[in-house]
Amino acid sequence: FRHGEPSSIKVPTPNGDVYFGEEHPLVIVAGPCSVENEEMIVETAKRVKAAGAKFLRGGAYKPRTSPYSFQGHGESALGMLDAARSATGLGIITEVMDTADLEAVAEVADVLQVGARNMQNFALLKKVGAQDKPVLLKRGIAATVKDWLMAAEYVLSEGNPNVILCERGIRTFDRQYTRNTLDLSVIPVLRTLTHLPIMIDPSHGTGKSEFVPPMAKAAVAAGTDSLMIEVHPNPAKALSDGPQSLTPNQFDALAAELLPQRVPA
Ligand code: PEP
Ligand code: MN
Repeated sequence: FRHGEPSSIKVPTPNGDVYFGEEHPLVIVAGPCSVENEEMIVETAKRVKAAGAKFLRGGAYKPRTSPYSFQGHGESALGMLDAARSATGLGIITEVMDTADLEAVAEVADVLQVGARNMQNFALLKKVGAQDKPVLLKRGIAATVKDWLMAAEYVLSEGNPNVILCERGIRTFDRQYTRNTLDLSVIPVLRTLTHLPIMIDPSHGTGKSEFVPPMAKAAVAAGTDSLMIEVHPNPAKALSDGPQSLTPNQFDALAAELLPQRVPA
């Protein structure tokens, strides 16, 4: 059983239109957790583009657990993302945390990310639903599938049909070995419930770079439409999420293995 015709979400980028959905090739979104400076984001963008990524990710506004952790460079990081976009033609995916920043973020982002911690920020969901850019809606850390789909409905019901659902791991009772429990069972489950495209984020899902390739492969085997992978030029020096970030060389190897596995019908 499947839920109607699968959505096909077209995202124009300088390099051409990219499509998310079940009938399209695997789309890989890659880049650092945080935009740290212009040089690193442009360098990372060039490397992930060469490996086959279609979108660059990178946080300007970071939802950190502790208010004393690096919060992202904010508006200046949006300018750095724009520079990386110009240098590579990659589409940009970055998080909007606050309705007050929506306009500025939407000027640079080709897809607006709503983070796990804001999955039920209904004011934000309504605002991203009332504008034109596609929305990447991450699953909340303790959200049921129904909670998540209802959050998506907040965007859809405001008139924006372009929502991509991103599983990024749910709260685990065993944080000794993994940061979260990556719920890959949502891939077949969502297929029975929704037409919306699916993305899997094994970086936040596991929290450890060594576990990212096997879980990315498992996600593709289970039929994900897209992947989000954190990549940093020097993970040991990253300002956020270094332990789960692949190096550009590690990302090259993974993308080369995955991209040929899901080509258009
Ligand atoms: C991120 O993508 O960097 C991020 C903060 O993700 P999440 O909202 O899934 O924690
Ligand atoms: Mn991160």
